Amino acid sequence: MSRFLLIGPPGAGKGTQAEQLSVAFGIPAISTGDIFRHNVKNETELGKLAKSYMDRGEYVPDSLTNDLVRDRLSQPDVAAGFLLDGYPRTAEQVTELDAILADNSSELDAVIQLTADTDEVVRRLLGRAAEQGRADDTEDVIRRRLEVYEEQTAPLIDSYASRGLVIRIDGLGPVAEVTERIIEALENQSGISPR
Ligand code: ADP
Repeated sequence: MSRFLLIGPPGAGKGTQAEQLSVAFGIPAISTGDIFRHNVKNETELGKLAKSYMDRGEYVPDSLTNDLVRDRLSQPDVAAGFLLDGYPRTAEQVTELDAILADNSSELDAVIQLTADTDEVVRRLLGRAAEQGRADDTEDVIRRRLEVYEEQTAPLIDSYASRGLVIRIDGLGPVAEVTERIIEALENQSGISPR
């Protein structure tokens, strides 16, 4: 059973690593950011609500985000485990995830903290803006997303660390190398191996 969280600043490479780990461990990677973007694109009610926050680099309200994740984690494909990318990001989301897991009599196995310094993440995000044109990849919004991450999400790492769950991984370097670091650390520190 592998139940992981991936935490790190915007641009640290969470989405990229989530895809690699999803394949290696045979578990779904669940990205709240991707789910919101999908809803925005399809102009659903949720998408309409989420868009105004996302465009400004602010977090979507906890109530919406928590309902979405509770629903996603009730689907059958998470029975063998899951990797959450970009959730929880607030103290209230941590509380909700604890409640969801308790309701399912399950627990987290590891919290993977992906690090990258600010210059590097800004450089990556501006690069991505040029390639993909994501609405929230403009320089002002990027700066706001980094601020919100530092204020609201970085402190959550301490609370997971006090539970002994955090493995800290340097997110700089070639994608495959970073994946290798994560897998090695999971094996060495948490005794968890890919399938
Ligand atoms: P990044 O981490 O690179 O900023 P994401 O794709 O993970 O990008 O998220 C994009 C946006 O989606 C966030 O800036 C936020 O508005 C919204 N979002 C994603 N996950 C959450 C969450 N757990 N809580 C609140 N808002 C979220």
